[in-house]
Amino acid sequence: MSPPRTIVIVGAGFSGTLVAANLLRSQHWATTRIVLVERSSSVARGKAYAHREYPYLLNVPAGRMSADPSSPLDFLSFAQHRIPGATAEDFLPRALYGEYLEATLLDAEVSAPPHVQFERLRGEVCAVEKIGDGPAYRVRLSDGRTLDADSDGSTLSPDAAGRTLDADDVVLALGNPPPAPLPCTEELPATAELQQYLSDPWTQPLRFSPGETVLLVGSGLTMVDVATAAAASSNEQVVIHSISRHGLIPPSQTQFSHSACKGDSATMLRAASFSALTLLRSVRELADETVQRGGDWREAVTFIRNIAPSLWQRLPAREKRRMLRHVRPYWDVHRHRLPSETLAKLNHLRRRQKLHVHAGRLLEFETVGSQIRVTWRARGAHELQTLLVDRVVNCIGPDYNVRRSRDPLMCSLLAQGLAVSDPHNLGIRTSSYGALVDAQGRAAANLFYVGPMLRADHWEATAAQELRGHAERLASYLSAPVGRMRAAATA
Ligand SMILES: Cc1cc2nc3c(=O)[nH]c(=O)nc-3n(C[C@H](O)[C@H](O)[C@H](O)COP(=O)(O)OP(=O)(O)OC[C@H]3O[C@@H](n4cnc5c(N)ncnc54)[C@H](O)[C@@H]3O)c2cc1C
Repeated sequence: MSPPRTIVIVGAGFSGTLVAANLLRSQHWATTRIVLVERSSSVARGKAYAHREYPYLLNVPAGRMSADPSSPLDFLSFAQHRIPGATAEDFLPRALYGEYLEATLLDAEVSAPPHVQFERLRGEVCAVEKIGDGPAYRVRLSDGRTLDADSDGSTLSPDAAGRTLDADDVVLALGNPPPAPLPCTEELPATAELQQYLSDPWTQPLRFSPGETVLLVGSGLTMVDVATAAAASSNEQVVIHSISRHGLIPPSQTQFSHSACKGDSATMLRAASFSALTLLRSVRELADETVQRGGDWREAVTFIRNIAPSLWQRLPAREKRRMLRHVRPYWDVHRHRLPSETLAKLNHLRRRQKLHVHAGRLLEFETVGSQIRVTWRARGAHELQTLLVDRVVNCIGPDYNVRRSRDPLMCSLLAQGLAVSDPHNLGIRTSSYGALVDAQGRAAANLFYVGPMLRADHWEATAAQELRGHAERLASYLSAPVGRMRAAATA
């Protein structure tokens, strides 16, 4: 009997979990072994849906968070067992969403056909290497493998080396990279780096003491998360400053119908996608028209988001650079929105002078006793200002410039030429179904990526709505008979 075909998925956050669940639900043409490798102790949660001390809410209503596009109210039905009376418009806890993803994976696992084996493996993958000239890859684990004995009792017999797995297909679902270090922190001594400077707010529990003054660098969703958690954990006894280039806070989500944009709007936007300026004008026109028809500008943003990959792919490289420089901050702030409840909390903190949002540029950090003196310049101003703070938290969001990555796996992929950075530093180059593009410009036949770095080729690839689609398409591609469908896809 021939050995089973092995598919290794690296990373069991949102994307890896959904690739696994979709694979388990698929028809497979041969005996298949699916191995889901995760370095942390929790499966199906990743950064976004982990258990945290502060009960963060989803930024998207329950009715739009289904993991299964064919069953839009799937998450809501799950949530209603825990929170009777929850509605499609409610913003539910992120940790509950993590439970939902875990349950989704377990359901798929128990209903998988007998010729499909599923294994969960705890460990950190440090390299994926091509074996000879064939299609297969060797997956190396840095920390030795341990069996996830308490997950579901599934077992895995160690191979001879004990630290490698050979795979016919590898799916990288590694999540968001950490934020880039703030340039000013180079001047801080190493001890301050530990105590007064938090370089990534998601790596440790956020605890703030009453009386603290905190600087949050950035003003997007991460800043909002940290500000609301800081206020709650100190009983609103902290003073928070947020500094970002534009000082723009995300607006609130609102209820709206999805039908207000006209059918020919997509054609109009695609036709405008030869220049950043023309596209921006068309987007403004669409938003104005939507409002004139009695709709909400957010409908236009959602409409554009759904066709964003085709608009982005049409723009020439020079126009993409213009978009990134001039339009991106405004797009990001309108695209990533907050539950109105969270925005109300922020406004309350601002009214109480507990939250100050500044537009400006950071120039220098200097330790003064146990504090940090921050020198900065307000946008459009000449004179410098200073703030004395107890702590600085880096909330600028993920650094998608993989050339700066210190992640052993990413460094190894780049060094071998199996992955390449995209020219705009938005992630890595991918082709159809997330196949990695290598240093020679060829799409890999058996090495795939799914996750937020798909933005390099798709622009919008951050939220559950986009990533669940990518995960589903990749799983159906991987489960199709190799010769037939793959030949069709590459033709
Ligand atoms: C704080 C936050 C809140 C969000 N809220 C929402 C929301 O409300 N609605 C919405 O639609 N979207 C939201 N998103 C966006 C989106 O859902 C996430 O970005 C999405 O979860 C990304 O999934 P992922 O699998 O790519 O990454 P993750 O879910 O982070 O998973 C990556 C996993 O890979 C593992 N891993 C990485 N490298 C290795 C390795 N070498 N070896 C083994 N394991 C490895 C990590 O430990 C991690 O578990 C949010 C994102 C964040 C960060």
